[in-house]
Amino acid sequence: MLLSELPKGKVAKIHFVAHPHEDKQIQLSALGFDPGETVKLMMKAPFGNPLQIKVGATLIAIHTDDAKYIHLCDEQCEGHDE
Ligand SMILES: [Zn+2]
Repeated sequence: MLLSELPKGKVAKIHFVAHPHEDKQIQLSALGFDPGETVKLMMKAPFGNPLQIKVGATLIAIHTDDAKYIHLCDEQCEGHDE
């Protein structure tokens, strides 16, 4: 599942981040979007507005266009290289 597809209120773990733009990739990592980190969708505004995501203990707003490059763990996930 992608972060952009996460249902509201559901908690998931980040599997990996693969943004095609390197500056965005670095920015997302700086915000705390890293493998193994817990994310929760707090609020999803209509019409392309930012998603309110809780990353660890921090609330961050990101655009759906960026959230679709953040891949979440599934049942088959066996962990990550940190
Ligand atoms: Zn994983």
